[in-house]
Amino acid sequence: MLHATKKEGETLLATKNTIYVAKRRVKMESLQGLSPIVHLKNQLGNSDYSTCVKTDDDGTLKALFFCHHASLELYSAYNTILFADSTYKTNKYKMPLLHIAGVTGNNKSFSVAFCFLAEENVDYYTWALECFNSAISCHHLPPPEIIITDRELALMNAIEKVLPNTIHMLCTWHIEKNILTNASKITKDPEEVKQIMSHWSNLIKISTTSDFYASFQRFSALYNPQFIKYVEKVWIPLAPRFVNAWTKKLPHFDHRTTSRIESSHAYIKTHLLNSQAGFPEAVKLITLALKAQHHEIKSQFHQQKITSLQNINSIFASCHGKISNYALRIAQRNFQSINPDDNRRCNQAQTVRTGIPCMHRISELLLSGRRVEPSDFHRQWHLKVSIVLFLFVFLLNSYSRTHSDFFILVLCRI
Ligand SMILES: [Zn+2]
Repeated sequence: MLHATKKEGETLLATKNTIYVAKRRVKMESLQGLSPIVHLKNQLGNSDYSTCVKTDDDGTLKALFFCHHASLELYSAYNTILFADSTYKTNKYKMPLLHIAGVTGNNKSFSVAFCFLAEENVDYYTWALECFNSAISCHHLPPPEIIITDRELALMNAIEKVLPNTIHMLCTWHIEKNILTNASKITKDPEEVKQIMSHWSNLIKISTTSDFYASFQRFSALYNPQFIKYVEKVWIPLAPRFVNAWTKKLPHFDHRTTSRIESSHAYIKTHLLNSQAGFPEAVKLITLALKAQHHEIKSQFHQQKITSLQNINSIFASCHGKISNYALRIAQRNFQSINPDDNRRCNQAQTVRTGIPCMHRISELLLSGRRVEPSDFHRQWHLKVSIVLFLFVFLLNSYSRTHSDFFILVLCRI
């Protein structure tokens, strides 16, 4: 700064110290005499975020939770299933960012809440989830029915503690990755590893618990005992959280992995531009990402309101404009799969799991002289006009205000 201030031929009276004092004075004035942490909290408190800050005894920031009100509005419509995972390299303090995301009726991801955490242990995850819990209860919203995560033991324990009524599912993709690493390390035989992976992927699709255990016995007899020991220790006790035999009747809408949140991380990170941002700047950039995300959700909704689906059977006529096109397309495929010669009994699992009437259910409705009504779909697939109107008004009014708040925030680099 000294160098930049000094023009050629001028005598510079300022010393390093005076500039430091002046910079500090400007900074403190912009902070209105508050510490940067208190200022950050106040600024977020005045914006459209629900926030919580965790500091240590010295006032050093240890965790920052923030959840935009527009995201909570989306969550009020789509709160059956959530995904949680941490992402890295988002800020100059190298704090992991816990990201909680949901999915709309058009199968589009949206971010619900974020939390920078100094540590990834049970206490910090518990704190983050408690903040999330209080944000949703302030808005009279229920906890999710299902949450999908990686096998992160600290996060799993925190979920059990803070969201005891939420069903916790494990990401099958992360499990496969872990199995592949261990199988390769233990057996060292690429052919056997290939067989293991294909066998495992069939194993987790089995639809009854007795068949699963019987099939696992055969799996155990075939492969390296040390590898089987690892699977028995790490994965079998957790089988109810990812094997189809247990999860088939949960309304997870066929989400079995956290890949959805991985792409949400990528989306947020394209807005973060560099990993050297301070917290105010990171929050500001995430706000811009949310704005773009909400804009897309709104446009998609409007687009399907004006372009109704082609070639959809008239039995779905009363669902137009009320059920998302994504769900209607699947229902149409189910309808086309009806086979009058198929006499197998339906166990309703598909209808419950996807929230969309299966071919048996549709055929049953038609036989009883009914058409398919919006009420035959899970509320996940219902188009929520009020939400989109909220987003519309929100995008118009609120973000500009939030942005000006963040321009002040950017001044206080903590
Ligand atoms: Zn069925």
